[in-house]
Amino acid sequence: MRTRSVCGMDAAEFRKRGKEMVDYIADYLETIEQREVYPDVQPGYLRSLIPNEAPEEPDAYEDVVRDIERVIMPGVTHWHSPYFYAYFPTANSYPAMLADMLSGAIGCIGFSWAASPACTELETVMLDWLGKMLNLPDDFLAGTTGLGGGVIQGTASEATLVALLAARSRIVQKIQADSPEREELDIISRLVAYSSDQAHSSVERAGLIAGVRMKKIPTAVSKKFAVHGETFSAMLKEDKEAGLIPFYFCATLGTTPSCAFDCITELGPICKAENMWMHIDAAYAGSAFICPEFRPLLNGVEFADSFNFNPHKWLLVNFDCSAMWVKKRADIIGAFKMDPLYLKHDHQESGLVTDYRVS
Ligand SMILES: *Cc1c(COP(=O)(O)O)cnc(C)c1O
Repeated sequence: MRTRSVCGMDAAEFRKRGKEMVDYIADYLETIEQREVYPDVQPGYLRSLIPNEAPEEPDAYEDVVRDIERVIMPGVTHWHSPYFYAYFPTANSYPAMLADMLSGAIGCIGFSWAASPACTELETVMLDWLGKMLNLPDDFLAGTTGLGGGVIQGTASEATLVALLAARSRIVQKIQADSPEREELDIISRLVAYSSDQAHSSVERAGLIAGVRMKKIPTAVSKKFAVHGETFSAMLKEDKEAGLIPFYFCATLGTTPSCAFDCITELGPICKAENMWMHIDAAYAGSAFICPEFRPLLNGVEFADSFNFNPHKWLLVNFDCSAMWVKKRADIIGAFKMDPLYLKHDHQESGLVTDYRVS
């Protein structure tokens, strides 16, 4: 048998150290409530605990492991402690950690079907499963003949941005198809996207990155901070009269400051009538829609072009796993497709082969 030694560790030692690490992890999680949930360190604490330069000679493995308690743990905020009430709950589980190990070992990069068929196929099928658990309309499922489907993003912020860029590309193409003389830059300068004033900051940032106007729709406590059709329609009318082109609305189900639910059954038909892309950000609340008693909160998703939630928030999968579905894969592929020679393969995008190539 070939001996493979990476960083001075061969398979025999990996077996031993791996088992020790699993024990360390299980001990950590079983006794986590005994640790201070918030670290008692000052900014810059870590630099003084380790040398200024990378060592010329390797440390013993035992010393490296000792540094976990000496250097790292004192500066860790223990998100999985039962005393952690900050931000939002983030998920993990023993099976998810084991899966991370396996994925690290396989170590492939599935940027296209051919780059590792199992990556693409597993992702597509799992997102169909998850989509069915949420009772998403069939349009969002890939199946073997569907035009839609799911794709894993790193974060909800990325999903919002990907949807916005796809929407931007779709509207520019549409306008230019009708009026080929119109310049792309002129169109983009008139575009306007919308979200609730309760939406996550990443929505506003997506507008900055995409270089389009992003308007916040005002909400009120009397309406439980939800965006309703009436306010939205009034804003659209005013903006169109001012020569702007509304093209994207990011609805939120479960807003960050107030857990508000935008009224997508009213907003969806407006977006459809105006040819706008509706994206739904349900980053943390989304997992709840699996329960039949909460599923009605997702009614109206049938009007959306894309929908996203984070299994890494509430569904036992550790960071990063943000699940995004689109009704038309072609919208995303159309916006991002690059076709360099070194990525070409015999099995081009089809019902059975998805090459989102969003990365
Ligand atoms: C958590 C959250 C986000 C940000 O999620 P990331 O995956 O960290 O980008 C966005 N929107 C809502 C509604 C959230 O709850």
